[in-house]
Amino acid sequence: MTSSHATGGAPTGAAKIGPDDARYRAVIDKQFNKRFTAHPDYVRLTESTAQVAAAVEEAVREGRRLAMTSGGHCLENFVTGADVRAIIDVSPMKRIAYDRERRAVCVEAGATVGETFRALAETWGTVIPLGEYPDVGMGGHVCGGAFGFLCRQLGLAADYLYAVEMVTVDAGGRASSVIATREPDDPHRDLWWANTGAGGGTLGVVTRYWFRAPNALGDDPAAMLPRAPASVTTFRAEWSWERVDEAAFRRLVRDHGVWCERNSAAGSPGASLWTLLELHRKQFGAIVVRGVSTAPPGAVEGLVDSHVGAVCGALGAPAKREVARMSWLEFALEPFPDLFTMPPGGVRTKVKDALLRRPLTDKQIDTAYAHLVRDDVDVMGGMLGLATYGGQVNAVSADATASAHRNAILDLACSVGWMDHRDDAASLSWARAFYRDLFADTGGVPVPGDAYDGALINHPDTDIADPAFNTSGVPWSAVYFHDNYPRLQRIKARWDPRNVFRHALSVRTG
Ligand SMILES: Cc1cc2nc3c(=O)[nH]c(=O)nc-3n(C[C@H](O)[C@H](O)[C@H](O)COP(=O)(O)OP(=O)(O)OC[C@H]3O[C@@H](n4cnc5c(N)ncnc54)[C@H](O)[C@@H]3O)c2cc1C
Repeated sequence: MTSSHATGGAPTGAAKIGPDDARYRAVIDKQFNKRFTAHPDYVRLTESTAQVAAAVEEAVREGRRLAMTSGGHCLENFVTGADVRAIIDVSPMKRIAYDRERRAVCVEAGATVGETFRALAETWGTVIPLGEYPDVGMGGHVCGGAFGFLCRQLGLAADYLYAVEMVTVDAGGRASSVIATREPDDPHRDLWWANTGAGGGTLGVVTRYWFRAPNALGDDPAAMLPRAPASVTTFRAEWSWERVDEAAFRRLVRDHGVWCERNSAAGSPGASLWTLLELHRKQFGAIVVRGVSTAPPGAVEGLVDSHVGAVCGALGAPAKREVARMSWLEFALEPFPDLFTMPPGGVRTKVKDALLRRPLTDKQIDTAYAHLVRDDVDVMGGMLGLATYGGQVNAVSADATASAHRNAILDLACSVGWMDHRDDAASLSWARAFYRDLFADTGGVPVPGDAYDGALINHPDTDIADPAFNTSGVPWSAVYFHDNYPRLQRIKARWDPRNVFRHALSVRTG
């Protein structure tokens, strides 16, 4: 039997804290996107699965709108919505240990990506291809599929998910926990499957994940997951916008797309390289290509040179170029500080994500140029990012997990960050107009098909569910979940019949 139940009831033990408590402020303040501020009646800091079940049952009984948080890195207001009256924060639950019985590494949902990378590397010398930002919480991350620097080599983090423990609520309002595994004879296997890509906040509260590679044999914990890279090489090259005219821009983006098309097959040498082409607004001044590779010394230099040479031939020699070699953990715990370090007080942000199956067309490249050189708006933080994708991600079939995007070669994002709420309207409208024009031929969104693979639920964008921005006639659910959506709806009906766990992009039963 692969399931267990912890009963709800009196929420003994979980700290219940109100607005006057410093710990309440800390939970509100850790929410990454400063566009939104939560105002719940209380926050519960949970330390065990039983406490989570009790806290969930209490909120349901009292009729309070509930949300849970782990790392606080949601890009939309799924935790911070104005109607959220109770927040359950699982972040005190951080234990990471090998479970001999399940032959898998167990990670509690409150651990961060960085804490997980550290425990795996230092204890067993292993790695899961988790996301790029160490402060992201495992709770909301893995159940959304989870891509990262190593995904072209190793696939998604969810591809290593063996089991999940989740607190769910039945039709009578009773909360209990269940463990669901990928074992073919597990009666709860559908819940495991949903947690490989449905996203956070849609079925219940994840309390623990177990990880084991699909092909792992024996019971040595060091052999349950891929080996951590021995070391990595990072590079960064920068060009001034002053030297880039429309023709050079077009060639740059076109050459970049061609490189990605030729180097994104699973197992190809280029799959050991993750890169990001940062096309910042011209006012910001720079175009950057950066990347990280696990290729060994001796091979990596040629790989980096061939990527930069193939992609940036139109730009000539970079104004700056940096290459560094470091341990995997040193990189994973502080990747690209100039990209990820946030200003004091944090940022307000909008990220509009799309997966591309093909390079951008010339028409789209011209659209990108027009939006990046616009000088009628003052939006310093805006950029078009093109990150390499595919590789091992595409070796898994679209229905093997709930992460259906298994054909993309690029992850595109129109993103903008700012600090002052008075810049909200200008910043949002710049990103929205840019994205709408890029995907004008498919109703303003990357409708899955020949050219696009939809968008990632871990980068949620509520505009895709808004008919003012999505005029394609294709529902948001197909953009995020493709043909997996009807199965997710059936699972939702079974495990969350009261729709307790919901937000603007959560799975609906009707
Ligand atoms: C700077 C930054 C970098 C990122 N980089 C990557 C990346 O490289 N790869 C990638 O895949 N994603 C990335 N993301 C997206 C990130 O994975 C998702 O936003 C993820 O949902 C965040 O999880 P969290 O626990 O930190 O956030 P939260 O804000 O705490 O939660 C996000 C969502 O998950 C729900 N949730 C939280 N905890 C649980 C739980 N225990 N059980 C069930 N639902 C839960 C919340 O209710 C909410 O709906 C990034 C986000 C940011 C802001």
